[in-house]
Amino acid sequence: MKAPILIRILVLSIVIQFTACNSTKQSLGSTSKKPKRIIFLIGDGMGLSQISTLFLQKDNTNNFKRFKTIGFINTSSGSHKITDSAAGATAFACGKKTYNGAIGVDIDTNASVNLIEKFSEKDYVTGLIATSSITHATPACFYAHTKHRRNEFDIAKQLLLSDVDFFAGGGRDFLREMNAEMQLYNWNIDTSNTQNWESITFNPEHKYGYLLSGKGMTTMVNGRGDFLYNATNASLRYLDKRKSFMMIEGSQIDWGGHANDYEYVFTEMEDFDKTVGAVLDYAEKDGNTLVVVTADHETGGLALRPASYQDADGISHNDYDAVEGSFNTGGHTAALIPVFAYGPGASEFQGFYENTEIFNKFLKLLK
Ligand code: MG
Ligand code: ZN
Repeated sequence: MKAPILIRILVLSIVIQFTACNSTKQSLGSTSKKPKRIIFLIGDGMGLSQISTLFLQKDNTNNFKRFKTIGFINTSSGSHKITDSAAGATAFACGKKTYNGAIGVDIDTNASVNLIEKFSEKDYVTGLIATSSITHATPACFYAHTKHRRNEFDIAKQLLLSDVDFFAGGGRDFLREMNAEMQLYNWNIDTSNTQNWESITFNPEHKYGYLLSGKGMTTMVNGRGDFLYNATNASLRYLDKRKSFMMIEGSQIDWGGHANDYEYVFTEMEDFDKTVGAVLDYAEKDGNTLVVVTADHETGGLALRPASYQDADGISHNDYDAVEGSFNTGGHTAALIPVFAYGPGASEFQGFYENTEIFNKFLKLLK
Protein backbone atom coordinates (compact mmCIF):
# COMPACT_ATOMS: atom_id res chain seq x y z
CA MET A 1 0.00 0.00 0.00
CA LYS A 2 1.27 3.43 -0.97
CA ALA A 3 1.56 6.15 1.68
CA PRO A 4 -0.85 9.08 1.21
CA ILE A 5 0.63 11.86 -0.91
CA LEU A 6 0.82 14.39 1.96
CA ILE A 7 3.03 12.07 4.03
CA ARG A 8 5.25 11.36 1.03
CA ILE A 9 5.79 15.08 0.48
CA LEU A 10 6.52 15.56 4.17
CA VAL A 11 9.11 12.75 4.18
CA LEU A 12 10.71 14.14 1.03
CA SER A 13 11.00 17.64 2.49
CA ILE A 14 12.57 16.29 5.69
CA VAL A 15 15.17 14.43 3.61
CA ILE A 16 15.93 17.62 1.64
CA GLN A 17 16.22 19.68 4.81
CA PHE A 18 18.51 17.13 6.44
CA THR A 19 20.80 17.11 3.39
CA ALA A 20 20.82 20.92 3.24
CA CYS A 21 21.65 21.07 6.94
CA ASN A 22 24.57 18.69 6.51
CA SER A 23 26.10 20.62 3.64
CA THR A 24 26.00 23.92 5.62
CA LYS A 25 27.80 22.16 8.45
CA GLN A 26 30.48 20.93 6.04
CA SER A 27 30.97 24.35 4.48
CA LEU A 28 31.70 25.89 7.91
CA GLY A 29 34.99 24.06 7.52
CA SER A 30 37.39 25.22 10.20
CA THR A 31 35.92 23.27 13.15
CA SER A 32 36.11 20.00 11.22
CA LYS A 33 39.56 20.77 9.74
CA LYS A 34 42.25 18.23 10.62
CA PRO A 35 45.52 19.45 12.16
CA LYS A 36 48.90 18.59 10.69
CA ARG A 37 50.53 18.64 14.11
CA ILE A 38 49.18 17.56 17.52
CA ILE A 39 50.84 18.66 20.74
CA PHE A 40 49.45 16.97 23.84
CA LEU A 41 50.49 18.42 27.21
CA ILE A 42 49.86 16.50 30.44
CA GLY A 43 50.22 18.12 33.83
CA ASP A 44 50.54 15.04 36.03
CA GLY A 45 48.35 15.51 39.12
CA MET A 46 47.01 18.83 37.83
CA GLY A 47 43.46 19.43 39.01
CA LEU A 48 41.44 22.63 38.98
CA SER A 49 43.01 23.85 42.26
CA GLN A 50 46.52 23.40 40.87
CA ILE A 51 45.53 25.44 37.79
CA SER A 52 43.82 28.01 40.04
CA THR A 53 47.13 28.72 41.78
CA LEU A 54 48.18 30.51 38.57
CA PHE A 55 45.13 32.81 38.80
CA LEU A 56 46.02 33.86 42.36
CA GLN A 57 49.24 35.60 41.35
CA LYS A 58 49.32 39.38 41.67
CA ASP A 59 49.72 40.13 37.97
CA ASN A 60 47.16 37.40 37.14
CA THR A 61 48.69 36.49 33.81
CA ASN A 62 48.84 32.90 32.67
CA ASN A 63 48.52 30.91 29.49
CA PHE A 64 45.49 28.83 30.50
CA LYS A 65 43.41 31.98 29.98
CA ARG A 66 44.14 31.77 26.27
CA PHE A 67 41.94 28.68 25.78
CA LYS A 68 38.31 29.11 24.70
CA THR A 69 37.50 25.41 24.27
CA ILE A 70 37.22 23.41 27.48
CA GLY A 71 35.90 19.97 28.41
CA PHE A 72 36.02 17.60 31.39
CA ILE A 73 37.15 14.01 31.75
CA ASN A 74 36.38 11.28 34.24
CA THR A 75 39.71 9.64 35.09
CA SER A 76 38.74 6.42 36.91
CA SER A 77 40.76 3.36 35.85
CA GLY A 78 39.68 -0.17 34.92
CA SER A 79 40.56 -1.48 38.37
CA HIS A 80 39.89 1.46 40.72
CA LYS A 81 37.69 4.54 41.11
CA ILE A 82 40.93 6.49 41.60
CA THR A 83 43.55 6.01 38.91
CA ASP A 84 47.34 6.02 39.08
CA SER A 85 49.48 7.66 36.39
CA ALA A 86 50.13 4.39 34.54
CA ALA A 87 46.45 3.54 34.00
CA GLY A 88 45.75 7.24 33.38
CA ALA A 89 48.36 7.48 30.62
CA THR A 90 47.36 4.11 29.13
CA ALA A 91 43.82 5.53 28.80
CA PHE A 92 45.19 8.49 26.80
CA ALA A 93 47.80 6.56 24.80
CA CYS A 94 45.86 3.34 24.08
CA GLY A 95 42.19 4.24 24.68
CA LYS A 96 41.71 1.43 27.22
CA LYS A 97 40.62 1.49 30.86
CA THR A 98 43.18 -0.77 32.51
CA TYR A 99 44.48 -1.65 35.99
CA ASN A 100 46.57 0.75 38.07
CA GLY A 101 50.25 0.14 37.32
CA ALA A 102 49.72 -1.04 33.71
CA ILE A 103 51.98 0.37 30.98
CA GLY A 104 50.33 0.20 27.56
CA VAL A 105 48.59 -3.10 28.27
CA ASP A 106 44.87 -3.81 28.72
CA ILE A 107 43.21 -5.22 31.83
CA ASP A 108 44.22 -8.77 30.73
CA THR A 109 47.86 -7.61 30.31
CA ASN A 110 47.74 -7.80 26.49
CA ALA A 111 49.73 -5.13 24.64
CA SER A 112 47.41 -2.44 23.32
CA VAL A 113 48.32 -0.33 20.28
CA ASN A 114 49.27 3.24 21.21
CA LEU A 115 49.02 6.66 19.56
CA ILE A 116 52.71 6.82 18.63
CA GLU A 117 52.44 3.46 16.83
CA LYS A 118 49.29 4.66 15.03
CA PHE A 119 50.76 8.04 14.11
CA SER A 120 54.14 6.61 13.01
CA GLU A 121 52.34 4.26 10.64
CA LYS A 122 51.10 7.40 8.86
CA ASP A 123 54.61 8.89 8.74
CA TYR A 124 54.20 11.31 11.62
CA VAL A 125 57.29 12.47 13.51
CA THR A 126 56.77 11.68 17.21
CA GLY A 127 58.32 12.92 20.43
CA LEU A 128 58.12 12.89 24.21
CA ILE A 129 59.37 15.30 26.87
CA ALA A 130 59.03 14.84 30.63
CA THR A 131 60.51 16.29 33.81
CA SER A 132 60.52 12.78 35.33
CA SER A 133 62.58 9.93 33.94
CA ILE A 134 61.53 9.35 30.33
CA THR A 135 60.86 5.75 31.46
CA HIS A 136 58.39 6.90 34.16
CA ALA A 137 54.72 5.82 33.93
CA THR A 138 53.26 8.72 31.94
CA PRO A 139 55.71 8.89 29.00
CA ALA A 140 56.24 5.08 29.08
CA CYS A 141 52.61 4.38 28.10
CA PHE A 142 53.19 6.17 24.80
CA TYR A 143 55.83 3.69 23.58
CA ALA A 144 56.07 0.65 25.91
CA HIS A 145 53.95 -2.37 26.78
CA THR A 146 54.70 -4.02 30.10
CA LYS A 147 52.76 -5.43 33.03
CA HIS A 148 54.10 -3.04 35.63
CA ARG A 149 55.42 0.51 35.80
CA ARG A 150 58.35 -0.67 37.94
CA ASN A 151 59.96 -2.45 34.93
CA GLU A 152 61.95 0.63 33.96
CA PHE A 153 64.93 -1.18 32.38
CA ASP A 154 62.55 -3.10 30.12
CA ILE A 155 60.71 0.15 29.38
CA ALA A 156 64.02 1.89 28.49
CA LYS A 157 64.89 -0.84 26.00
CA GLN A 158 61.45 -0.52 24.42
CA LEU A 159 61.99 3.24 24.08
CA LEU A 160 65.14 2.77 22.00
CA LEU A 161 63.39 0.18 19.78
CA SER A 162 60.20 2.26 19.45
CA ASP A 163 58.94 4.63 16.75
CA VAL A 164 59.72 7.66 18.96
CA ASP A 165 61.95 10.17 17.08
CA PHE A 166 62.73 12.70 19.82
CA PHE A 167 62.79 12.53 23.61
CA ALA A 168 64.06 14.64 26.49
CA GLY A 169 63.95 14.09 30.24
CA GLY A 170 65.68 12.14 33.00
CA GLY A 171 66.38 8.40 33.09
CA ARG A 172 70.06 7.99 32.16
CA ASP A 173 70.39 5.20 34.77
CA PHE A 174 67.88 3.02 32.92
CA LEU A 175 69.50 3.40 29.49
CA ARG A 176 73.09 2.58 30.45
CA GLU A 177 74.70 -0.30 28.55
CA MET A 178 72.21 -0.16 25.71
CA ASN A 179 74.71 1.02 23.11
CA ALA A 180 73.76 -1.79 20.72
CA GLU A 181 70.14 -0.59 20.61
CA MET A 182 71.25 3.02 20.31
CA GLN A 183 73.48 2.24 17.33
CA LEU A 184 70.99 -0.09 15.68
CA TYR A 185 68.38 2.65 15.53
CA ASN A 186 70.83 5.46 14.88
CA TRP A 187 70.02 7.42 18.02
CA ASN A 188 71.89 10.64 18.80
CA ILE A 189 71.87 10.45 22.59
CA ASP A 190 73.07 13.46 24.55
CA THR A 191 73.68 13.11 28.29
CA SER A 192 75.45 16.40 29.03
CA ASN A 193 73.85 18.61 31.62
CA THR A 194 74.81 21.95 30.08
CA GLN A 195 72.52 22.09 27.11
CA ASN A 196 72.60 25.09 24.90
CA TRP A 197 69.30 24.21 23.30
CA GLU A 198 69.11 27.13 20.87
CA SER A 199 72.36 26.19 19.14
CA ILE A 200 71.35 22.59 18.33
CA THR A 201 70.83 21.96 14.64
CA PHE A 202 68.63 19.00 13.85
CA ASN A 203 68.81 16.63 10.92
CA PRO A 204 65.15 15.70 10.33
CA GLU A 205 66.25 12.19 9.28
CA HIS A 206 67.85 11.47 12.67
CA LYS A 207 66.47 10.45 16.07
CA TYR A 208 67.45 12.56 19.11
CA GLY A 209 67.41 11.71 22.80
CA TYR A 210 68.35 14.00 25.72
CA LEU A 211 68.91 12.28 29.07
CA LEU A 212 69.77 14.98 31.53
CA SER A 213 69.65 13.19 34.90
CA GLY A 214 69.96 9.69 36.32
CA LYS A 215 66.31 9.32 37.26
CA GLY A 216 63.83 12.23 37.55
CA MET A 217 65.00 15.76 36.78
CA THR A 218 65.58 18.02 39.76
CA THR A 219 62.70 20.21 41.01
CA MET A 220 62.06 23.83 40.02
CA VAL A 221 62.68 24.80 43.66
CA ASN A 222 66.13 23.20 43.43
CA GLY A 223 67.04 24.92 40.18
CA ARG A 224 65.82 22.89 37.19
CA GLY A 225 65.45 26.20 35.36
CA ASP A 226 63.97 26.32 31.86
CA PHE A 227 64.57 22.69 30.86
CA LEU A 228 60.92 21.99 29.95
CA TYR A 229 60.49 25.28 28.10
CA ASN A 230 63.80 24.97 26.22
CA ALA A 231 63.40 21.30 25.31
CA THR A 232 59.86 22.05 24.09
CA ASN A 233 61.05 24.89 21.87
CA ALA A 234 63.84 22.66 20.52
CA SER A 235 61.30 19.92 19.72
CA LEU A 236 59.13 22.47 17.91
CA ARG A 237 62.10 23.28 15.66
CA TYR A 238 62.70 19.57 15.05
CA LEU A 239 59.10 18.81 14.05
CA ASP A 240 58.40 22.12 12.29
CA LYS A 241 56.63 21.82 8.91
CA ARG A 242 56.22 18.05 9.34
CA LYS A 243 53.25 15.91 10.35
CA SER A 244 53.91 15.32 14.03
CA PHE A 245 52.66 14.17 17.41
CA MET A 246 54.30 15.29 20.66
CA MET A 247 53.50 14.51 24.30
CA ILE A 248 54.97 16.96 26.83
CA GLU A 249 54.58 16.26 30.54
CA GLY A 250 54.90 18.50 33.59
CA SER A 251 55.62 15.38 35.64
CA GLN A 252 56.32 16.87 39.03
CA ILE A 253 53.09 18.76 39.74
CA ASP A 254 52.08 15.29 40.96
CA TRP A 255 55.18 14.91 43.12
CA GLY A 256 54.49 18.24 44.81
CA GLY A 257 50.96 16.99 45.55
CA HIS A 258 52.25 13.72 47.01
CA ALA A 259 54.63 15.73 49.20
CA ASN A 260 51.73 18.05 50.24
CA ASP A 261 54.12 20.90 49.42
CA TYR A 262 52.34 23.97 48.05
CA GLU A 263 55.53 25.74 46.93
CA TYR A 264 56.58 22.59 45.02
CA VAL A 265 53.18 22.38 43.28
CA PHE A 266 53.07 26.10 42.47
CA THR A 267 56.59 26.34 41.00
CA GLU A 268 55.98 23.23 38.87
CA MET A 269 52.70 24.80 37.68
CA GLU A 270 54.53 28.00 36.71
CA ASP A 271 57.02 25.95 34.70
CA PHE A 272 54.25 23.97 32.98
CA ASP A 273 52.30 27.16 32.23
CA LYS A 274 55.33 28.78 30.60
CA THR A 275 55.69 25.70 28.39
CA VAL A 276 51.98 25.76 27.48
CA GLY A 277 52.58 29.41 26.45
CA ALA A 278 55.47 28.43 24.16
CA VAL A 279 53.34 25.77 22.47
CA LEU A 280 50.36 28.15 22.06
CA ASP A 281 52.65 30.81 20.54
CA TYR A 282 53.87 28.25 18.02
CA ALA A 283 50.32 27.02 17.27
CA GLU A 284 49.01 30.57 16.78
CA LYS A 285 51.70 31.34 14.22
CA ASP A 286 51.42 27.95 12.55
CA GLY A 287 47.62 27.70 12.21
CA ASN A 288 47.89 23.95 11.58
CA THR A 289 48.64 22.71 15.10
CA LEU A 290 46.16 21.31 17.62
CA VAL A 291 47.12 21.87 21.27
CA VAL A 292 45.42 19.80 24.00
CA VAL A 293 46.25 20.25 27.69
CA THR A 294 44.92 18.01 30.46
CA ALA A 295 45.93 15.84 33.43
CA ASP A 296 45.77 12.15 34.27
CA HIS A 297 44.22 12.89 37.72
CA GLU A 298 44.44 15.33 40.61
CA THR A 299 46.99 14.74 43.38
CA GLY A 300 46.83 15.76 47.05
CA GLY A 301 43.20 16.92 47.22
CA LEU A 302 44.51 20.47 47.13
CA ALA A 303 42.07 23.08 48.47
CA LEU A 304 42.67 26.83 48.27
CA ARG A 305 41.16 27.77 51.61
CA PRO A 306 41.07 31.06 53.52
CA ALA A 307 43.87 31.56 56.04
CA SER A 308 42.59 31.94 59.59
CA TYR A 309 43.47 34.53 62.21
CA GLN A 310 42.53 35.06 65.87
CA ASP A 311 41.00 38.31 67.09
CA ALA A 312 41.79 40.00 70.44
CA ASP A 313 39.29 37.70 72.22
CA GLY A 314 40.99 34.60 70.84
CA ILE A 315 38.15 33.79 68.45
CA SER A 316 39.33 32.54 65.07
CA HIS A 317 38.06 33.95 61.77
CA ASN A 318 38.54 33.26 58.09
CA ASP A 319 40.65 35.78 56.21
CA TYR A 320 39.08 35.78 52.76
CA ASP A 321 41.89 37.93 51.41
CA ALA A 322 44.57 35.38 52.20
CA VAL A 323 44.55 32.02 50.41
CA GLU A 324 46.54 29.06 51.61
CA GLY A 325 47.01 25.67 50.07
CA SER A 326 45.70 22.76 52.12
CA PHE A 327 46.02 19.10 51.13
CA ASN A 328 43.75 16.33 52.31
CA THR A 329 45.61 13.25 51.08
CA GLY A 330 49.10 12.15 50.13
CA GLY A 331 47.58 10.27 47.20
CA HIS A 332 45.50 10.90 44.09
CA THR A 333 41.83 11.96 44.05
CA ALA A 334 38.75 11.21 41.92
CA ALA A 335 37.91 14.79 40.87
CA LEU A 336 36.95 15.49 37.24
CA ILE A 337 39.81 16.98 35.25
CA PRO A 338 39.59 19.86 32.75
CA VAL A 339 40.72 19.51 29.13
CA PHE A 340 41.83 22.63 27.22
CA ALA A 341 42.06 22.67 23.42
CA TYR A 342 43.21 25.13 20.79
CA GLY A 343 43.52 24.90 17.00
CA PRO A 344 42.01 22.76 14.22
CA GLY A 345 39.91 19.96 15.75
CA ALA A 346 39.69 21.68 19.17
CA SER A 347 35.88 21.52 19.27
CA GLU A 348 36.13 17.70 19.53
CA PHE A 349 37.35 18.14 23.11
CA GLN A 350 34.29 19.95 24.52
CA GLY A 351 31.82 18.35 26.92
CA PHE A 352 32.05 15.59 29.53
CA TYR A 353 33.63 12.28 28.60
CA GLU A 354 35.88 9.42 29.75
CA ASN A 355 39.68 9.82 29.66
CA THR A 356 39.85 7.03 27.03
CA GLU A 357 37.98 9.29 24.58
CA ILE A 358 41.10 11.46 24.22
CA PHE A 359 42.69 8.56 22.29
CA ASN A 360 39.66 8.22 19.99
CA LYS A 361 39.49 11.96 19.37
CA PHE A 362 43.17 12.12 18.36
CA LEU A 363 42.74 9.14 16.00
CA LYS A 364 39.69 10.77 14.44
CA LEU A 365 41.87 13.79 13.62
CA LEU A 366 44.67 11.70 12.10
CA LYS A 367 45.23 12.89 8.54
MG1 MG B 1 53.76 11.29 35.27
ZN1 ZN C 1 51.08 10.40 41.55
